[in-house]
Amino acid sequence: MTSYVDHHDRPPDRKATLFCQQCGHSSAPSGDWIVRDVVDGYVYDCPDCGHEITHRKRFDRTSSWVPADD
Ligand SMILES: [Zn+2]
Repeated sequence: MTSYVDHHDRPPDRKATLFCQQCGHSSAPSGDWIVRDVVDGYVYDCPDCGHEITHRKRFDRTSSWVPADD
C-alpha cells in the first residue's frame, strides 16, 4: 500500500495565472500564451483573440534608458 504524495507535478499557482480581459481565456504564464519578443521585454498575447495580456519588462529596475528616435 503506497500513500506517498506525488511531487513530480508542480501544483498550479493560482496567483500566477494570467487572464485575458477580452475573452476570459486563462492560463499560467508558461501556458499557451503567444509570447512576443519586443525591444524592452516580452509581450503576452491571448491565443484566442490576440488581446495583449501583459508586458513583461526585461529589466525590473527603474531605467533611464529611453528608445532613441533615430
Ligand atoms: Zn482573449
